Amino acid sequence: MNFEYTPEQIQLRRSIRDFAQAEIAPHVLEWDESQTFPLEAVKKAGELGMLGAIFPEELGGAGYGYVEYAIIIEELARVDPSFALIVAAHNSLCTNHIYLAGTDEQRRKYIPKLATGEWIGCWSLTEPEAGSDAAGTRSTAVEKNGEWILNGGKTFTTNAQYADVCVAMAVTDRAAGSHGISAFMLETGTPGFRVGKKENKLGMRASATGEVLFSHCHLPPSQLLGKMGDGFIDSLRVLDGGRISIAALSVGLAQGAFDAALKYSKHRKQFGQAISEFQSIQHKLADMATSIEAARFLTYCAGTRKDENKRVTKESAMAKLFASEIAVRVADDALQIHGGYGFIKDYPVEKFYRDVKLCTIGEGTSEIQRLVIARQLLRD
Ligand SMILES: Cc1cc2nc3c(=O)[nH]c(=O)nc-3n(C[C@H](O)[C@H](O)[C@H](O)COP(=O)(O)OP(=O)(O)OC[C@H]3O[C@@H](n4cnc5c(N)ncnc54)[C@H](O)[C@@H]3O)c2cc1C
Repeated sequence: MNFEYTPEQIQLRRSIRDFAQAEIAPHVLEWDESQTFPLEAVKKAGELGMLGAIFPEELGGAGYGYVEYAIIIEELARVDPSFALIVAAHNSLCTNHIYLAGTDEQRRKYIPKLATGEWIGCWSLTEPEAGSDAAGTRSTAVEKNGEWILNGGKTFTTNAQYADVCVAMAVTDRAAGSHGISAFMLETGTPGFRVGKKENKLGMRASATGEVLFSHCHLPPSQLLGKMGDGFIDSLRVLDGGRISIAALSVGLAQGAFDAALKYSKHRKQFGQAISEFQSIQHKLADMATSIEAARFLTYCAGTRKDENKRVTKESAMAKLFASEIAVRVADDALQIHGGYGFIKDYPVEKFYRDVKLCTIGEGTSEIQRLVIARQLLRD
């Protein structure tokens, strides 16, 4: 076992940290308050390879593995979890579905544009009536005169309003159940395809979350992604990798909240001494740091396995479950350490406290992660 980062990984962490401090940190509050999608900074992240982190260089990607990808997401989330969510949905959901299931032609058409940030991508599985039970998809795609005709709609799609291409799942054979759902690529401007309502959210407010709608949307056969009927099965493979990114996002968010709490505890004086001198505050800090480190190990362990081309269904669900749940507790403790000041927007922990809740919900709730883990344990 080797628990050391390579010099290149350490350098990568440093450069993402510098980017986050220079390009994101000064705007975090303003973006959150006004729910501004940081398009300009996202494009800059694209120029630096972050939007194509896990894709080969010949397709315009950075050629990194999941360990490097986790480093990128962790460092972005430490400063702004919303920004990290935008990058994660673009990379490991949308682009990765095209990379995993696409033909060479489809890969060559879409991945270079997405990997460089020329295009933004989104990925739509969830529907109003099909959340945790995503196999209950109701949107349909019917083949007629050599075309696909899509009808229906999706909800809660990250990046929806800013995406140039959307990977969406629709039923092509209802009788085949989860093996009757297929994936399609829809470009902005396709007649019958439009984005709907943008949600007004508790947290992650700089990331746009919204509906995508299909109304007699005609698509040529070239827009079917993967084999007909494999869209849901491929989505599960996509989520295996995606959950590593939500685990990394949770670790970064928790680290950001911890850093703020540690700093505050050394400066804030009560009863004539810094509050960090009180044992109950020290115990909180010790528990926070320990749980973050444990979550980090689970996350990078899942990333390492993924880079070794091993199956990570159980490991990524474990990392996502544990990291997201400890992040909720860490954000809570960080706010508590700030007392009343944690409750106001002048301090970053207020935002971490709001953002963190998405981590136990997105890409499968904690309840669903437990179900996935238990299923793997019983199968083994
Ligand atoms: C900000 C944000 C961004 C998102 N981005 C995307 C995206 O880009 N693309 C996308 O496709 N989706 C996205 N989602 C959707 C997200 O994946 C779903 O919200 C999530 O999977 C839960 O579905 P649901 O909200 O319908 O809740 P439900 O499935 O209705 O769940 C409600 C409650 O019931 C529990 N529950 C449900 N089934 C079971 C069960 N079998 N056993 C035990 N408990 C159960 C759940 O855990 C939860 O506590 C996003 C959501 C949010 C909030």
